[in-house]
Amino acid sequence: MNNNPNNRPRQNQQYNQQNGQRPVQQNRQPVQRQPMQQRTNYNGYNPYPPVKHKSRRKAYRAAGLVVLSVIILVMLFVSVIIFAARCATGQIGDPSDTGEKNGTSDLVNDSASGSAGGDTIIEAPTTTRSPETEPETTALAATFEYVTKTEADMHKGYLILVNYQNAYSFDTDFKIQTFYGNRNKSYKLRDTLVSLDSYAMDWCNQMMAAFEADTGKHDILVNSAYRTMEEQESIYSARVSAYGEEYAKSYVQLPGYSEHHTGLAIDFTIYTDAGESKTFDAMTDYPQWLTANAHRFGYIQRYASDKTDITKVAYENWHYRYVGKPHAYYMVQNNLCLEEYIEKLRGHHTFDGEHLLITDDEGASWEIYFVPSAGETTQVPVPKYQEYTISGNNVDGFIVTMKG
Ligand SMILES: [Zn+2]
Repeated sequence: MNNNPNNRPRQNQQYNQQNGQRPVQQNRQPVQRQPMQQRTNYNGYNPYPPVKHKSRRKAYRAAGLVVLSVIILVMLFVSVIIFAARCATGQIGDPSDTGEKNGTSDLVNDSASGSAGGDTIIEAPTTTRSPETEPETTALAATFEYVTKTEADMHKGYLILVNYQNAYSFDTDFKIQTFYGNRNKSYKLRDTLVSLDSYAMDWCNQMMAAFEADTGKHDILVNSAYRTMEEQESIYSARVSAYGEEYAKSYVQLPGYSEHHTGLAIDFTIYTDAGESKTFDAMTDYPQWLTANAHRFGYIQRYASDKTDITKVAYENWHYRYVGKPHAYYMVQNNLCLEEYIEKLRGHHTFDGEHLLITDDEGASWEIYFVPSAGETTQVPVPKYQEYTISGNNVDGFIVTMKG
């Protein structure tokens, strides 16, 4: 539209010059430059009619120019009116808006912004803003950089899978500390030596405080938590002696394959104020509270009754494992044991694929993805400006948890 007012006058002027050039020059030469005597040499030539024609042509030309000028002015005027009208409705901003839209869609999420924007370009004010707001809710808008992780790192972190197939490496960055001196008074201890990773213990303290607040009881007891290789060997051999190997294996993992080595697992029992000891599975109210609430504090009941064929461990309602809040939340909500969760991340939520988005009951959100190990070292993509944690899975890769 903007080109028409400029192009048309040029075309018209050229057209007129071409058409008018020849007759004007032919007429002017005899009239202005040839002497009057020469006119009489033409037989039958009447000097007056050409003079009249000349004046008529001049008049026509003048009239034509006036008409053209009027047309040009009208077109310019119409163009100005259209331009002003577009400015008033905001449509004049469309070209730059769609440019930004294409730019963000390349960086962020082609499927989300591409199709929606293409259908509704005219409705600029609402549709051009949606691709800019969507990436903020899906953390895919994050800028990523790489950190180098080693083979040893793959065996560290809060999501390591330690089971009958995956031994523990005993190479850890965790700070193992005794409950004694670091717990709150909402629960009890078997002795002063029971220990756990300090961060997992912080969450255990919060969980026990919530239990006491809800039930009015404080007689849950930490019976066993962190175990060294030697302690596991001792426990295992004692069980084998007492119950036989088959029975022992269903409850006590082979030394090196126990979650208790990690400093992330707790076995609970009951010890009442009256000095009465009770096994955890003999109770109903305590296990029910933990089953319903432990995930809010990052803990899962590790060996569920309906997952024994996967875990290869009998149902243990007293054994809890810290994995972290979003992971525990997702596993409980979707009835997945740790083996199934690790498998789901590996198969469906790689960095290049669709990340797992988790929002808990309180509105906190996380974005999670899996990065396979590349061998001795792995370049793990992590968000440059967002809070995150990395954990090995103790099998074949790394799990990145971004805070939303
Ligand atoms: Zn246990």
